[in-house]
Amino acid sequence: MATFTVDFLGCKVSHVDAHEVREALLRDGHREAQDADVAVISTCCVTNEAVAKSRKAAARAARDHARVYLTGCAASLRGEPFSGLPENVVVVAKRPEDTAAFVAGDVGAIGCVHADARLERVRAFVKIQDGCSFSCNFCVIPLVRGGSRSRSAAAVLREVARRVEQGHREVVLTGINLGCFRDRAAGYDLPRLVREAGATPGLERLRLSSIEINHVSGALVSALLETPTAARHLHVPLQSGDDAVLRAMRRRYDVQTYLRRLAPLADEFNLTSDVIVGFPAEDDAAFARTLRTVERAGLTKVHVFPYSPRPGTATEFDDRVPPHVKKERGARLRALSHELCLARWCTKVDDVVLIDRPGRGYGDDYTPWLLDGPVGAFVRVRADRVTEEGIVARAA
Ligand code: SF4
Repeated sequence: MATFTVDFLGCKVSHVDAHEVREALLRDGHREAQDADVAVISTCCVTNEAVAKSRKAAARAARDHARVYLTGCAASLRGEPFSGLPENVVVVAKRPEDTAAFVAGDVGAIGCVHADARLERVRAFVKIQDGCSFSCNFCVIPLVRGGSRSRSAAAVLREVARRVEQGHREVVLTGINLGCFRDRAAGYDLPRLVREAGATPGLERLRLSSIEINHVSGALVSALLETPTAARHLHVPLQSGDDAVLRAMRRRYDVQTYLRRLAPLADEFNLTSDVIVGFPAEDDAAFARTLRTVERAGLTKVHVFPYSPRPGTATEFDDRVPPHVKKERGARLRALSHELCLARWCTKVDDVVLIDRPGRGYGDDYTPWLLDGPVGAFVRVRADRVTEEGIVARAA
C-alpha cells in the first residue's frame, strides 16, 4: 500500500480532476496521509502566476515525497513549464479522462478498499463536460484540455444520485464550458439536465459552477427558476465591459447582450463574474466602461485576473499594458466588487445556510455567513451585522 496526498490549484474542474485521482487511489487500496509516499498535484495554467505557483508546489512536494505526479492544465502546457524539476516528478500530460487511471496504474493497485469512507460530505462537484470549442484569443484552455465533450446524461444523473446517497447536501455541476453540455443520443441539453438532476431524491441544493452568457437562454432561466433545489446564484464570466475589447478577445457577445440576458435574473439571483484587466486592447476608457458594466449588470463578487499572455494563444506576443497599470486597475475593480458585495449583504435579513467549514457557510445565493455549528448542517439564520468577510448570523 502507498500513502498519498492530493492537492489542486485553480478552478473547480481542477478540483474535480484531483478528486478523481484521489478516488482511484482509494479504490486501489492506498491511504491518504500527511507524510505520504506519493503527492498528486492538479496544476493550473490560467495565468503566468498560476503556472509559477504550480511549479513551486511541485518543487516543494518533490522534497517531501518519494514521487510527485503533476496532472491538470499546466502539465499539458506547451513550453514544458516543469522542466528542470527533480527526477521524482512525473508530468502527466494526458487527457483529463485518462489521468486518474494512469496515475493509479503507475502507483499500482494493491487491493480493493471501499472508497467512500473518507469522502467529504458537504458539497460534491460532478463534472458534466470537459474541454472547450470556443477560441477566445487569450485562453489556453482549449489547447491544454481539447475541444468540448460531454458525459452521458445517464452517467451524470447516476453520479448525482450516488453523491446524495453518500450524504452530500449540495451538488455543483461542473465543466469548462458548461452550456456546451449535450447528450444528443438521449436528448439532453443543460436545461433538461438541471431539471432532472435537481429532482434527484434527497438532493437539497444544486449549483452550476459557471456559465457563459451565450448559454444563459430562456430555457435555462426557466429551468433554474422552476427547479426548487436550484441555487439562486450564477457565475457568468464578463471578461470585459467594453465591446472593442470583447471583440479583440474574440468573445461571442457584446455588453448589451450580457446585460439583456442577465436582466431577468438580477432581482432574485446573486450574480458573480470573472474579469481580465490589462488585456492589450484595454485603455483607460475601456476599463472605465468595464467598471460601469459591472455595476449595471448587478454583479457582486468579481474574480479579477491580470492579463498575462499564454503560450500558443492568439495574443501570445501581445502584452502592451504596463504591470503597474494592470495592478492599479485590478485594485480598483476589486474595491468596486467588495463594495457591491457589502451592499448586497446589507440587504439580507435571513437565510438558510449550509455550514461548509468551521465558522462559515453559504446561503442559497452564495452569500457568505459567519456562524458556528456542525459542518454539513443546514441552519436557518437571521442577520446580525455585516463584516468585511460576510454576514454574522444568529439563530433564527
Ligand atoms: S469560453 Fe473562452 S475563456 Fe472559457 S475556456 Fe473556452 S476559450 Fe477559454
